[in-house]
Amino acid sequence: MKITAMKAAGLRGMTPEGGWANEIRPDDCIHTLVVVYTDEGVTGWGSAFTNDLLVQGALQVLEPLFLGENPLEPSRVSEKLHANTFWMGRGGSITHAISGIDIALWDIFGKVTGQPVGRLLGGRYRERIRPYASLLMEEPIPLAEHLHAIQELGFRAFKIGWGPFGRQNFALDEKIVRSAREAVGSDALLMVDAGASDAFWRQGYKWALRTAHMLKDYGVEWFEEPLPPDNLSDYILLRNNSSVPIAGGEVLTRRQSFIPWLRNAAFDIV
Ligand SMILES: [Mg+2]
Repeated sequence: MKITAMKAAGLRGMTPEGGWANEIRPDDCIHTLVVVYTDEGVTGWGSAFTNDLLVQGALQVLEPLFLGENPLEPSRVSEKLHANTFWMGRGGSITHAISGIDIALWDIFGKVTGQPVGRLLGGRYRERIRPYASLLMEEPIPLAEHLHAIQELGFRAFKIGWGPFGRQNFALDEKIVRSAREAVGSDALLMVDAGASDAFWRQGYKWALRTAHMLKDYGVEWFEEPLPPDNLSDYILLRNNSSVPIAGGEVLTRRQSFIPWLRNAAFDIV
């Protein structure tokens, strides 16, 4: 089996407002599907959280390296793409694109072997998981109504994030979390994502620590992206002093980028 082509398709039209400093519009593309085609008719699907123009550019650059390659050797082919582009802004768009390709190659391998990718990667450790519904934050009353509607679908875990949180005042932040907890009940898991991986995030360590203590009062399971994504030393401090677990790392690309964060125990949850 040989790789014959790859295409990137940007998702547009339903992108919701998130509370970003520079708000995204419905037709902005921030998520791109990557499709890998083969000479035997099997196709693989992957995705990258980035703009389609960047993925399309990367696919053109990578084409001589992947055309004719064996899609049934996903790790080797992905590594070939990484190793031949050390000089091309690795950790950036080229890495995002290779990541989407990698997912698509594993998809092909799973389809051809008739095995779940989890098993091909070494095995499944559990047969049941509790999924959480991820919601953008809103003012307390519409958020509570939204949470109720999602609870009706059967969800028992919820993550609320972005929107006005950390962007207006502490009293509103607390009101949002309180109404979310009241809406989902004391048994549900509730997580909070500040979304500090946003441009010109206005809060710092002291806000994050104070907020973490407030979240503890509402039984919040973890506090996600509470600090700007490059503030390693503040993350270490926060993780050591917070009364709730700290989650982060969403903008890091390449597994190697995680090393200083893991070595310094900067996160409870990656
Ligand atoms: Mg997040």
